[in-house]
Amino acid sequence: MQNNDPDITLITPDAPMSPGTHGGRAKCLQRLVRLDLPVPVTVALSFDAVHRLAAGEPLDMQRILAPFGEAPLLCVRPSSEDPDWGGPGAILNIGMNDSLYVELSDRIGKRAAASLYLRFVQAYSIHVARLDPDMFDEVSDDPVTGLPEALSAYEEETDESFPQEPAVQLLEVLRSMARTWEGTSARLLRQAKGAPADAGLGLVVQQLALGLGETTGESGSGVMQLVNGQTGERKITGRYLSQSQGRDALGQGAGALFLARDARGPSLEEQAPDAYAQLIAHTALMREKLREEMTAEFTVENGKVWLLDGVRVARNARAAVAIAVALAEDRIIPREEALMRIEPRALNELLHRQVDPEAKRDRLTRGVAASPGAASGKIVFSAADAQASAAQGEACILVRRETSPEDIRGMHAAAGVLTERGGMTSHAAVIGRGMGLPCVVGASDLTFQLRRKRIVAPDGRVFKAGDVITIDGTSGDVLAGEPTLVEPARDDALKTLMTWADEVRDISVRANADTPADAEMARGFKAQGIGLCRTEHMFFEADRLTVMREMIFADTPAERAEALELLLPMQRADFADLFRIMQGQPVCIRLLDPPLHEFLPTERSGHVQLAEALDLPVSDVTRRVEALSEYNPMLGMRGVRLGIVVPEIYEMQARAIFEATIEASQHGAPVVPEVMIPLVSAMREVELVKAKVDAAAAAVRAETGQAFDYRLGVMVETPRAALRAGDIAPLVSFLSFGTNDLTQMTYGLSRDDAGKFMSEYVQQGVFPEDPFHSLDTDGVGELLNLGIERARAANPDVVMSICGEHGGNPESIAFCRDAGFDYVSCSPFRVPVARLAAAQLAV
Ligand code: PEP
Ligand code: MG
Repeated sequence: MQNNDPDITLITPDAPMSPGTHGGRAKCLQRLVRLDLPVPVTVALSFDAVHRLAAGEPLDMQRILAPFGEAPLLCVRPSSEDPDWGGPGAILNIGMNDSLYVELSDRIGKRAAASLYLRFVQAYSIHVARLDPDMFDEVSDDPVTGLPEALSAYEEETDESFPQEPAVQLLEVLRSMARTWEGTSARLLRQAKGAPADAGLGLVVQQLALGLGETTGESGSGVMQLVNGQTGERKITGRYLSQSQGRDALGQGAGALFLARDARGPSLEEQAPDAYAQLIAHTALMREKLREEMTAEFTVENGKVWLLDGVRVARNARAAVAIAVALAEDRIIPREEALMRIEPRALNELLHRQVDPEAKRDRLTRGVAASPGAASGKIVFSAADAQASAAQGEACILVRRETSPEDIRGMHAAAGVLTERGGMTSHAAVIGRGMGLPCVVGASDLTFQLRRKRIVAPDGRVFKAGDVITIDGTSGDVLAGEPTLVEPARDDALKTLMTWADEVRDISVRANADTPADAEMARGFKAQGIGLCRTEHMFFEADRLTVMREMIFADTPAERAEALELLLPMQRADFADLFRIMQGQPVCIRLLDPPLHEFLPTERSGHVQLAEALDLPVSDVTRRVEALSEYNPMLGMRGVRLGIVVPEIYEMQARAIFEATIEASQHGAPVVPEVMIPLVSAMREVELVKAKVDAAAAAVRAETGQAFDYRLGVMVETPRAALRAGDIAPLVSFLSFGTNDLTQMTYGLSRDDAGKFMSEYVQQGVFPEDPFHSLDTDGVGELLNLGIERARAANPDVVMSICGEHGGNPESIAFCRDAGFDYVSCSPFRVPVARLAAAQLAV
């Protein structure tokens, strides 16, 4: 056979073919052939050929059949460009007909020959002729008796005898697989896995190795891999079934053997040690030469091993990291490639919480464990509600009958997803796993009363929107309430990978951390400091809140000073804790940012309580709360405006920072605190606050006789601050771009309300992405570039960074690196993702 037909290609070491013309399976088989591995003769059909076949055009069958000789016995398998996109199921035993049946009966025994033929008749009838599978209900289980029954059933259904001509059989099989691929359901399924709408399908036609028959040596089939696809642990795993073919060994499991010796049952290693040894050698060679962990699909034919296929070991993120690291440690791939092989977001899957094994589980039901990790949150029933909930910083569980692409934004916003329908490959499951979002699907024991916005547990308990549940995507459990969750175990492979990432990356990564617990987490994730400590979060504990409110309600400077005097030691302790935990790494503390009314109660009952605590009439409290309320608080008296109008608060905070600096430096590494002013829009604001902060530093130095340094910086989060960065930069050591507010103000788009219509906007293509999620590089990005350029021109030493949510988004990090930022800062859980994303940019 000439091997220069681009459509019908005998797989030889140098036949021209690529995943983009003949599919991943064909290309992989060629690689195995090049390694001189025992692959049966295989012919690959190109995407073009398969496409034409689906359109009803003829194909040169003699050309396909030529390499297989007389009376071939064949199988056909799909070969899509990316093996993950799937394809129609394999069809085996093509070529079986009455005469081959007679011949094979002599060679391998009548029973085995009948079994092959029967299997083909059934597969052909159901998948090619599209007959009702029920027609074989009455067929005997014994193949010798069953075969004639099946043949007559076929004849009865079709009024034709079963096709005998191999060329006809093969053509029909190929054509039906081609048409299945082009059908709507197959297209939707692969699109859900990321395939383009016009993804092509190749087909491979392969000589069948016989895994059954009355032979002297061992015969059977199975799969083998050298690692565990869940943990990445090096362990020979797989199944083998004597007297079988295809993927039988993976079926019911009856009679299947382990591969390696195993206390739980018999193994191939014991039953056919030679074949076992060959297989290990083949799989190890594939690993080394294909530079990837592979699952070998094999047949043992009378003692001889045939490799039918090699597929990348299916793996979760944890195993992916372990595999990439092991390949690099074995010098099969360079470290840089190991880094590039892990999608940064996939780390989420390793990093997610789990339900504490010790915690009491109030189980409502168990569904399919579709995406690992546990999440608790309030029930929401729509993607829009999930986004609204996320905008308010409230964790939610998105509960849907099933999800569809319109729900993706909601899934991004949710802590977890629970669906009534679906299985491991349903939309929610595939997308959830892709995002590392905990997900339980197919929880059909729950009654989903979506119009009434409630779900009912099998025991009758009712859960409404807003009620808290927990889903455990690792076990499939749906739990009432909020059991304790434990932080994920980060294994050595992840640590190694992250060390490599840190060696190559050229932009620093800090964490946004407000509390000692956050700071511990940040250190655990090897953040290079705290890039944003939002101090307002320190005032919400009950004892402090009351003092804070007293301060807010103070009538005279003396009263205010008294309240601040009480807050000072609390803040000092907070900062000292952070400094201690961060062990000399930079800690950037933002002075108070939110409008004061956020610290006051909104309900009347809260007003009453506050009146009691402050010994004031309720009417007085209500009046003052009202007086502090604003029409547009995000644009009102907050951030530096507060610092200018009520300077005592920033003075107290600055003093607390400096006193804590001295305290922490006495016990550990010297601390150089960073003090950051929020929501600046004018240079004069910075001058005024700088004077106060400098004065506080001077006072603390004078009182204590201790020297210390500090750095003052500004958050660039108003468009004007970005435009006037040239005025501001000479006054400060650093500028940190707060892209949450900057996005809000650049678009004039409320960060708290945009969730309501964002999915609509993205769906209609108004925005390519939610700009609060992925940096708007065109608009907000232009302001960042302008700001950086002007700041650097005015003060070349100024340190520049980003501390909005975008700091943890891989695409946004790419922008920040190009823009010349010194570091990005993001929430602790996103630090590993950011470190890996940053490393990939530097590779
Ligand atoms: C920002 O605005 O980007 C920011 C980091 O501050 P916050 O989210 O606290 O407003
Ligand atoms: Mg902000």
